[in-house]
Amino acid sequence: MSTTETEEHKALRAAVSALGKRHGRDYDREQLWSEAAKLGYLGVNLPEEYGGGGGGIAELSIVLEELGAAGCPLLMMVVSPAICGTVIARFGTEEQKQTWLPALADGTRTMAFGITEPDAGSNSHRITTTARRDGTDWLLTGRKVFISGVDLADATLIVGRTEDSRTGRLKPCLFIVPRDADGFTRRQIDMELQAVEKQFELTLDDVRLPADALVGDEDAGLLQLFAGLNPERIMTAAFAIGMGRYALARAVEYARDRTVWDAPIGAHQAIAHPLAQAHIDLELARLMMQKAAYLYDAGDDVGAGEAANMAKYAAGEACVRAVDQSVHTLGGNGLTREFGLASLITAARVARIAPVSREMILNYVSHQTLGLPKSY
Ligand SMILES: Cc1cc2nc3c(=O)[nH]c(=O)nc-3n(C[C@H](O)[C@H](O)[C@H](O)COP(=O)(O)OP(=O)(O)OC[C@H]3O[C@@H](n4cnc5c(N)ncnc54)[C@H](O)[C@@H]3O)c2cc1C
Repeated sequence: MSTTETEEHKALRAAVSALGKRHGRDYDREQLWSEAAKLGYLGVNLPEEYGGGGGGIAELSIVLEELGAAGCPLLMMVVSPAICGTVIARFGTEEQKQTWLPALADGTRTMAFGITEPDAGSNSHRITTTARRDGTDWLLTGRKVFISGVDLADATLIVGRTEDSRTGRLKPCLFIVPRDADGFTRRQIDMELQAVEKQFELTLDDVRLPADALVGDEDAGLLQLFAGLNPERIMTAAFAIGMGRYALARAVEYARDRTVWDAPIGAHQAIAHPLAQAHIDLELARLMMQKAAYLYDAGDDVGAGEAANMAKYAAGEACVRAVDQSVHTLGGNGLTREFGLASLITAARVARIAPVSREMILNYVSHQTLGLPKSY
């Protein structure tokens, strides 16, 4: 792995950045989504034979980071091409690939992703959404919470469980549930987030699905799930780094001009140094994100798992600090709607909580990397 970007990556970054700047903070999500798709950015990680760009998560994370840095992040990129596209490309049947991958790549279809449950939260071993066979069909029953963009998505990839006929234990499985399936209902959660992508509570009440709604092998569910969760963590890091860069750039602009004594406020080290620290933290987080993407794209799922967790942690923390310091740099203007930074305080916290919280990553590193015992 090189620590400097390839010419192709630099060119991709510059082109996406130009697109992002054309749309800016007041972007229209639909328009940007379809333009990014037409330019090949949404499916840059998907296989070429299914209409994708043949790249990997390294390229997809560049796209999301640059759009975020321009103030127009496309949250659904974290789930649609990154998790769902990856899982279908790696484990789907030929028919599932033909049905979904070209459409995810050209942006005409979108897929949401649902794992979180109200009574399980961070403990995904406790999820109870259960699929049972009825002839060749599946009947899926359960509840999900905080699922993003279900209204925008044609279908949601739902993590459920099926019963192992030998042991009776429940094992994780992935199902494609169409938005309008009977028994599949959603209620929008009233979030304090100013984003086009909303979160939903989902109820699945004996949702009847055909046999081919199951993605991948019933017996290899966990492996397949992790194939999708690592890209999700890497993409959340990209989302966070983009947002942190956006906020920091606004603060730096402001600190260069705003003068209340003899010199601009950016000349005071109390203002300049925390901004410099925020920049360093974002750069460091990006390095770890690049490492995670490199390992993932090279097929090292285990190595990528640790790096993706660390990248998500570092990026989430760097983003929260960058946004906080940026708001502070603008003084009262940091809290006005005109300057638009205050709403990022809430948005930045998402990267600390989802898709896996800061504490759960610290748990992972304590147990898996450092070999310390578990408290739970
Ligand atoms: C904006 C947004 C979008 C989301 N989109 C999606 C989506 O599209 N699909 C999806 O499936 N989910 C989504 N989520 C859900 C998200 O992944 C969960 O919120 C997250 O996994 C945490 O689960 P929880 O909210 O139930 O918190 P809990 O699990 O209840 O945790 C609460 C607190 O306790 C801490 N905690 C829990 N267990 C431990 C422990 N063992 N040790 C130390 N601390 C612990 C946590 O770190 C956290 O701080 C989204 C969430 C948000 C906020």
